[in-house]
Amino acid sequence: MKAIVDQDACIGCGLCPNICPEVYEMTDDEEKAIAIDDDIPDDKVDGAKEAEDACPVDAIKVE
Ligand code: SF4
Repeated sequence: MKAIVDQDACIGCGLCPNICPEVYEMTDDEEKAIAIDDDIPDDKVDGAKEAEDACPVDAIKVE
């Protein structure tokens, strides 16, 4: 599975890297979140999906 952050939708609230820092991080200017390019490790899928559910603007897709 992979996580994708819609760069147009993300408002940079910082929630997803807070919930799952192994999959999401903020860009250097802290304005947007980005997701790791690789497949999500099995033990991080729950966290990645939790962040997907928690994102206030539905910018994250885990699929
Ligand atoms: S939770 Fe959503 S809006 Fe907040 S930083 Fe992550 S992708 Fe962006």
